[in-house]
Parts: sequence; structure tokens; C-alpha cells
Amino acid sequence: MVLTDRVLMGPGPCNPYPEATAALGRPMLGHLDPEMIVVLDETCDRLRAVWQTANSLTLPVSGTGSAGMEAALVNTVGPGDVVVIGVNGLFGERMCDVARRCRAEVVRVEAPWGRALDPQALLDAHPAPKLIGLVHAETSTGVCNDVAAVAAGKGDALVLADCVTSLGGIPVDIDGWGVDVAYSGTQKCLGVAPGLAPFTMGPRAVERRIADPQSWYLDLGMIGDYTRGATRKYHHTAPVSMIFSLHAGLGAVLDEGLEGAWARHAECGAALQKGLQNMGLELWAEEGHRLPELTTVVVPDGVDDAMVRSGLLQRYGIEIGGGVGPWAGRIWRIGCMGHTARRRNVTLLLGALAELLGR
Ligand code: PLP
Repeated sequence: MVLTDRVLMGPGPCNPYPEATAALGRPMLGHLDPEMIVVLDETCDRLRAVWQTANSLTLPVSGTGSAGMEAALVNTVGPGDVVVIGVNGLFGERMCDVARRCRAEVVRVEAPWGRALDPQALLDAHPAPKLIGLVHAETSTGVCNDVAAVAAGKGDALVLADCVTSLGGIPVDIDGWGVDVAYSGTQKCLGVAPGLAPFTMGPRAVERRIADPQSWYLDLGMIGDYTRGATRKYHHTAPVSMIFSLHAGLGAVLDEGLEGAWARHAECGAALQKGLQNMGLELWAEEGHRLPELTTVVVPDGVDDAMVRSGLLQRYGIEIGGGVGPWAGRIWRIGCMGHTARRRNVTLLLGALAELLGR
């Protein structure tokens, strides 16, 4: 087997915090072992701290970020419910697809890819939606959508936020903003391997929960029991090693402090974006709405997208991402998330790119 050592600067997994990687090798415990229950409870507490919430229904859903998206929607939305969804990239589009499969009536509010959603347009789209959903950090475009503004004006609606690429990298304040349901992924700014979906649901959403959701596995009634301390019941066999790893990764984030982690992401993102512009490259996401943790760049005319990305990977061991959907081949997506968000990685990437582009 060939083991490779990469600097992961794509939109996919980042380099995990060393503590999170080490925890994957901890001796296995039974999923009902009392020590495991302590680790799971502490993991839920650490998640509450990172989400900035007191929600009791806060847990790592077993599955990747998409399982979080499904859990959020199948538990809140049923046939005929009106759901307003913001679409300015691939993941808003996917939220519509999941809501459609819940047999909801989906009202789309669109903005062009690369531009931010208009919060007022989401609030005005329907007089009485059950839920308004949007992606906080659109990984397909590098745009930050204003979740706080939507939550501030939500009225009777529930607000659902996809925080897969935001949690741990930029401020997310579930209780302060009034977000009712949110999910994330472990592999981005939380600095853990892919495999779990940090999840939180507040009391307004719990009250209006679908009684018998169409997914058995993602029914939060049962998953909630699974994480409820000593009275927990068997629901599924917890992915023990991933929970150890998330526990350790969240420990690293909280030891640094949320504000410290946000500041590090902000500083690296700013240095990267300035360096790219100094090289004559054009940033793609709308100015004023750019994410520090995920930068999008226009592939210059005459430059072969695939050659540059494979050159970075083969000559320098650096992974960056290409565009998706209509933007495949036209933009690069450069992640600076979790443990990868270090100045040394920014400097390495800028130097490697300059050599490959001859700039
Ligand atoms: N939502 C957003 C914003 C994402 O970036 C991703 C993955 O990149 C997902 C949802 C889906 O997460 P996963 O690939 O972990 O299932």
C-alpha cells in the first residue's frame, strides 16, 4: 500500500487535527460501555459549546453531512408542508431535492451561483411557510449567506441552516440568531475525518416534529433516545472510533477557543485571497460575501484546469478542488479549513501555484 501525505486544500476533507487522528487509534469500546456513554455525553456537550446552543437535542448523527441534511428535513417536513429554500449553489439545490422527496411544496428563492441570497427575498417568498432553509457557507461557490438576518425575520417559520462548511471556521450562533435546526459535517472546519453529522434542533422544531418520519434510521425521536445518557436505548451501533475522534477534534477547537479558531481561519483566508489577487488571479465569489475557509478563483484564460490541479497534487502534494455543475473547469475551490488553516499551507500553495502558472 502506498501511503501519501497530502496538504488537503480542497472543499472535501481538510487535514484533521492531530488529536482527532490519534483518537481514531484508541482501543475499541463496546458501544454500550459506560465509558463510551461518558465520551458520547461529553461529545454532545462539546457540540453544544461549538454550536453555541443549550438545545438538548444536540448530537452527532451517524453518517456524513448529507445524513444531517436528511435528518433535518425528514423530521420537520411532511407532505404538503410549504418550505422556502434558498438556492445559490449545489447544496441549496440538494436541499430542494430532499424536501421534494419529503413531498413538501418547495418554494425556491434563487440567486446566481457566486452571489449571496437576499435574506428579504427568502422572508417574502411565502406568507406562512413551515420552514425556511438555506446554506450558510455554500461550498460550491465560496459564498456566505446571511443566516442571522433570515432567522431574525422568520416570524412563525422554522429556520434550517446547513452549516457543513461554516461550523468551527466562522461564527455560528444557534441560540443567539434563533436558528431552529442545523447540521454540519466533521470533515471541514471541525478538523475531523468525514463520517459524522453534528446536529442540533431547538424546542420550537421539536414541538412541530413529524411524528412518524419516512426514515426509520434518521427518526430523531429514536436517535434522541440513543444519546440520552444513562437512560439511552439501543437504536444502532454507534461508530465508536469516529465519536472518539470527534470528541478529540472538538477538544482541540475548544482548547484554542472558538474566537481563536475563527480568527485563524479569517487570517489564513485573507492572506490566501490577497496572495491570489497579487498574482493577478480573479476571485469569483461576490465581494463582501466571501468565505475565508473556502476561496473560489477564476481559472485564467488559456490555463488548463485539470493540468494545474494534477500538477499541484503530483509535484507538491497539495489538493485543491475544481468547479462543480455549470462551473466545472471554470473555477478552482481552495479550502483552508480545520488544521489545514495555517499560514504555512497558504504560503506553500501560493508558491506552488505561482511556479505552475509561471507568475
Ligand atoms: N452541505 C454542504 C454545504 C456541503 O459542503 C456538503 C459537502 O461538501 C454537504 C452538505 C454534504 O456533506 P457530505 O458530503 O459530508 O455528505
